[in-house]
Amino acid sequence: MVAELPQAVRGFSTTFFTMFRKVNTEQYPEDKDKYPPKPAFHGRHQLNRHPDGLEKCVGCELCAWACPADAIYVEGADNEEGERHSPGERYGAVYQINYLRCILCGLCIEACPTRALTMTNEYELADNSREKLIYEKEDLLAPLMPGMVDAPHAMVAGTTAKDYYEGKVTGATPAQEEEVAAREAAEAAKQQVRVEAEQNQAADAEASEEAAINVAREHAANDEDEALAAVAADQGKGGAQ
Ligand code: SF4
Ligand code: SF4
Repeated sequence: MVAELPQAVRGFSTTFFTMFRKVNTEQYPEDKDKYPPKPAFHGRHQLNRHPDGLEKCVGCELCAWACPADAIYVEGADNEEGERHSPGERYGAVYQINYLRCILCGLCIEACPTRALTMTNEYELADNSREKLIYEKEDLLAPLMPGMVDAPHAMVAGTTAKDYYEGKVTGATPAQEEEVAAREAAEAAKQQVRVEAEQNQAADAEASEEAAINVAREHAANDEDEALAAVAADQGKGGAQ
């Protein structure tokens, strides 16, 4: 026991002096802004756009095939004139990343031939709901930057898909802006018609319910009058006898 004392003292002295060392614990989420992730950190994915707002994804599915965790699901579709999402023939119509599976390895972004898919620094990928951790295309699409207009819309007049990849398109043209403004106005008008139709339907339903209640009340009042008249008639007969 006496022979073991020096080791015990040495062991406890380590504990004792550690109490006076600088604490390395970082408080999360209180102090998270003090410790931003490193620029090279691979976090949540982003689906990028061309400078005029068209999508870079061509729906080739190479990212999905490269993924070792089977976390990506892509369905490509043909671009139609009047409904164009990307400069080429095809675009990613359905794009999902399942963050319950993703291990943030970055193999998918290496496989992407158009640099449509990159990864951001966002690391807060937790939720109480499993469904919410399956990100859809709308969740992954890059926000619109100044000079962009939201797809679908036509390509810049006189350009080819190659011009887009060679960086010759630098922003949306007035013709593209007009096309998108007209589409949005038409969609807003359609939405307004839909809302009015729903309101009219609700008002009609309320009116017919009210009419039914009034009819029922009238019937009840008539029945009550008839019953009172019958009682009065009975009482009249009784008095005469
Ligand atoms: S980062 Fe890795 S695991 Fe996540 S989707 Fe891309 S390839 Fe799959
Ligand atoms: S993100 Fe890239 S690799 Fe994946 S489908 Fe789109 S273009 Fe192809």
